[in-house]
Amino acid sequence: MNRDERRALTCIVCPNGCRIMVEKQAEGLKITGNQCKRGIGFAEAEITHPTRTLTTTVRTIFPQAPVLPVRTRGEIPKEKIREVMAFLNTVTIREPLGIGAVAAENVLGLGKDIIVTSDALNSGV
Ligand code: SF4
Repeated sequence: MNRDERRALTCIVCPNGCRIMVEKQAEGLKITGNQCKRGIGFAEAEITHPTRTLTTTVRTIFPQAPVLPVRTRGEIPKEKIREVMAFLNTVTIREPLGIGAVAAENVLGLGKDIIVTSDALNSGV
């Protein structure tokens, strides 16, 4: 974001989805439209280092659940999501992992594990 630039964001911290306007001014960021303080933190982070929790699926060798839902344990830099998705396309789960089990440790050295979010391999669903 350049000086004097404006950027509209939708806060994703809570379901209210406030429309936040961020303006870069000489004295710093001017943030408006947020209904609470958490929106300020969201907007500042979104402008300086946006992060997201990645939710996706990973292949397994098990016919009862050929793919298993997974997510990052915590948030990763938004610009790394495509790279992590490409890596996860190469991963195949070969053990009957349950909810919370680590499917990929410290993904791409980002300090976050990929964890399983389903018990499909253990429940027979
Ligand atoms: S600014 Fe506050 S109220 Fe609005 S969406 Fe963000 S967290 Fe929710």
